[in-house]
Amino acid sequence: MKIGDYLRQGKFSVSFEFFPPKTPEGEEELFQTIKSLQQLNPTFVSVTYGAGGSTRDRTRRVVERIHKETNLTVMAHLTCIAHTKEDLYDILKGYAQIGIENILALRGDLPANMPDFKPPEGACKHSSELVRFIRENFGNTFSIGVASYPEGHPESPNMEWEIRYFKQKVEAGADFSITQMFFDNSYFYRFLELCQRAHINIPIIPGIMPITNFRQIQKFASMCGAEIPQSLVERLEPYADNPEETLKIGVEFAIEQCLDLLDNRVQGLHFYTLNKSKATLLVYEGIKGALKT
Ligand code: FAD
Repeated sequence: MKIGDYLRQGKFSVSFEFFPPKTPEGEEELFQTIKSLQQLNPTFVSVTYGAGGSTRDRTRRVVERIHKETNLTVMAHLTCIAHTKEDLYDILKGYAQIGIENILALRGDLPANMPDFKPPEGACKHSSELVRFIRENFGNTFSIGVASYPEGHPESPNMEWEIRYFKQKVEAGADFSITQMFFDNSYFYRFLELCQRAHINIPIIPGIMPITNFRQIQKFASMCGAEIPQSLVERLEPYADNPEETLKIGVEFAIEQCLDLLDNRVQGLHFYTLNKSKATLLVYEGIKGALKT
């Protein structure tokens, strides 16, 4: 199933994101997680791609296993910054050959441990170039998703810039977008308004990260420029070393956040699972009465 076609019909989507584990044990744990989340009947699941192409084979293997061993629709993430166009073509052709129909087209981050890193000659330097490359070489074989940033990408000087280049990805042929995690819905609503004003009409699905580890989330959030509201910090901080209480607060917060998004008629919810099912299952339990079908 092509995710873009599904969303264009106005249907509501629930999706889960995983990363490709480094070890065979990690991979087996991931497939246990997938098994327990499968009962929620997600619209699709997605598998991330390591910065700089570091998970090329692992992402491909996990995507292929999900596609062959489950009945789930799977979307492969693909980052372009460290690949030649020949590499990108081969990766995409490989996906097309096994029947993968959905790609999340990303630039990826420049490798932090390689200050002299230069993209290969002729590489796609921005995700809009990757979207265009996919459309030019593969037509409508894939439904293409792109990332969006309700609080602005850390490299964007302001929201005007953010919207200008987001629009460029859409005009290059993106069908839908998934947002960076955020914890204050007002950023998301303001972003939707800015998109509407800029005549960006693709479905934009909010990315939800249920918090299970306070220090880890502080690090992630500061890296991607997501603000954690002070009131939430104050609730979490006293329990930074208490995983059970952190999970409880994180889940309660994610439920409140999702219910507010559902009240405001979002078209879907995309959960960053970190390859664990517990928090996502608990959040789902708390919102299922409010979910549209
Ligand atoms: P771009 O769309 O290229 O934008 C990056 C920056 O460049 C922005 O500031 C933008 O405004 C600016 N820009 C865009 N085009 C131009 C232009 N033509 N001229 C000047 N400036 C421009 N990373 C991974 O490594 N693997 C993953 O699997 C992964 N999955 C993700 C999933 C989601 C849902 C999200 C939100 C992010 C994900 N990321 C992933 C992180 C992402 O790779 C980083 O945020 C990266 O820094 C930017 O990628 P992008 O595709 O948004 O880049």
